[in-house]
Amino acid sequence: MAEQVFVALGSNLGDRARHLAEARRLIGALPCTSVAAESAVEDTAPVGPVSQGRYLNQMVLVRTGLAPRELLDALLGIERALGRERGERWGPRTIDLDIVRFGDRVVSEPGLTIPHPELPNRDFWQRELAELAPHGC
Ligand code: ATP
Ligand code: CA
Ligand code: CA
Repeated sequence: MAEQVFVALGSNLGDRARHLAEARRLIGALPCTSVAAESAVEDTAPVGPVSQGRYLNQMVLVRTGLAPRELLDALLGIERALGRERGERWGPRTIDLDIVRFGDRVVSEPGLTIPHPELPNRDFWQRELAELAPHGC
């Protein structure tokens, strides 16, 4: 049974729009997974204490038969494939892929929290979710 998952994309290094496009393509190429809808792309100020360039952000509605942990591992693999290097938390990155919601599931495990704990604090995520809501049926 495919679940409806909202995945947040963010990029603030290099060709940001191209990184988002490549991430959408690679997510759609995962097993048992498709991208059903895309929000508009937003240009936003960085979150957190690190001085860095502005982000392009986007939310996609994904339908997947993968389990949450399988999807997370696949998204971390896409980040690596797109040249992400892990430095300081909230630092600049070619691509960041966060699972914001996964159906109605609540997950609280080491390395995986769903819904994403920062959802209440990020206005742009809430705007993007509202934009995608009509597609979520
Ligand atoms: P934030 O999560 O506050 O947006 P970040 O995206 O910069 O910060 P990362 O360095 O990309 O943080 O991720 C750190 C770890 O967060 C990942 O390795 C992953 O295990 C964990 N994590 C926990 N919950 C989630 C989730 N819902 N989606 C993606 N990663 C998550
Ligand atoms: Ca993030
Ligand atoms: Ca992340």
